[in-house]
Amino acid sequence: MKNITILGSTGSIGRQALQVIDNFPEEMRVVALAAGGNAELLAEQARLYQPEVLALANAGKYFQLKSLLPGFSGEIIAGDEAIVAAAAWPRADLVVAAVSGIAGLLPVIAAIEAGKDIAFANKEVLVAAGSLVMPLVAAKGINFLPVDSEHSAIFQCLEDDPKAVESLILTASGGPFYNWPQENIANATRDQALKHPTWNMGPKISIDSASLANKGLEVIEAHWLFGRDYDTIEVVIHPESVIHSLVRYADGSLLAHLGKSDMRIPIQYALTYPRRRAGSWPRLDLAALGKLTFAKPDLGRFPCLGLAYEAGRAGGLSPTVFNAANEELAAAFLAEKISFGQIPQKIEKALTRTENKQQPTLEDILTTDQETREFIANNK
Ligand code: NDP
Ligand code: MG
Repeated sequence: MKNITILGSTGSIGRQALQVIDNFPEEMRVVALAAGGNAELLAEQARLYQPEVLALANAGKYFQLKSLLPGFSGEIIAGDEAIVAAAAWPRADLVVAAVSGIAGLLPVIAAIEAGKDIAFANKEVLVAAGSLVMPLVAAKGINFLPVDSEHSAIFQCLEDDPKAVESLILTASGGPFYNWPQENIANATRDQALKHPTWNMGPKISIDSASLANKGLEVIEAHWLFGRDYDTIEVVIHPESVIHSLVRYADGSLLAHLGKSDMRIPIQYALTYPRRRAGSWPRLDLAALGKLTFAKPDLGRFPCLGLAYEAGRAGGLSPTVFNAANEELAAAFLAEKISFGQIPQKIEKALTRTENKQQPTLEDILTTDQETREFIANNK
């Protein structure tokens, strides 16, 4: 029996992870569920899965959650420290890291320190703090299994010899504005940005996908997960989202991973790793598809991708700044407080103002994250 904790169980990835677990009732058991503020859904999940502990970040909702679950036999805890406690829950073997944003950082660190395997979706954690997280993963010898579809694809296509690999190729759908002229992109509305052409995801990552900031975060995520130099991480636009990513080998071969755009497939692979188990998820019909298309990303219309490469190459605290600025700006755009065009402009401003520092400590990272958010809030 694999005992599983889900951080972010009420979100898009968290809910799909529970669907995967539903397929393996004899082999997987939910021991801890953690969420931000959605007490109703967390209570519903608790009734179904009967975990040992429920953690809600929003302490103001503690009594609501408790009153929704009369007779619940597990523990109910609340506040940021409760998420950290759930992440390190003693009986868990594997933690699904599916919180959105930097809020997942301390819980992910706690889970690794407690020796849990991680099914990792929460990319902002690696972008902001990859230089701390990856050495910890190595020191603890845990499995750190990518859930992000591109990274799961690469993980599945990678052979052992790193010298045989020429580059990693991340595919990007191009998002809803792929064919739009620059002026229209700059003035796109919230609803237009949320309409992703090929994936159905949470709101923040949907905005990131429209700006290509998501692909930028994924380039930095790939750098840390696979230990690759930025010159050997490519991005190609592939609007059909059928090829999830590729590895280019020194002999000229490309190995690709293909499938439907359904996150339950990479989630399942992470949960059943190293085995590949049966799943009834939709099948890909290649003949019905007919053709696949590819294009170079346009960094002029989508500057966030170029800014992410710059931040990644600068290293140190630059990716932390990129991530914090982007998170604040995505939230401000979702709240209809800024235009879509302001997202890359303000990320660039944030990146140029901060003094960089290589090999930052956790405190440096948390401070820079906070300062960047304040800078963005004061310069809307
Ligand atoms: P959602 O917004 O749908 O879900 C976020 C989850 O995090 C919710 O359960 C939310 O709880 C919870 N949460 C928010 N704040 C806190 C907090 N402070 N402490 C604990 N939990 C919190 O996001 P997604 O599921 O779309 O994305 C999750 C992560 O996975 C992101 O990093 C994203 O980039 C990555 N990812 C997502 C993909 C997708 O298809 N959705 C694909 C690839 C990667 P509540 O709702 O209760 O507030
Ligand atoms: Mg992805």
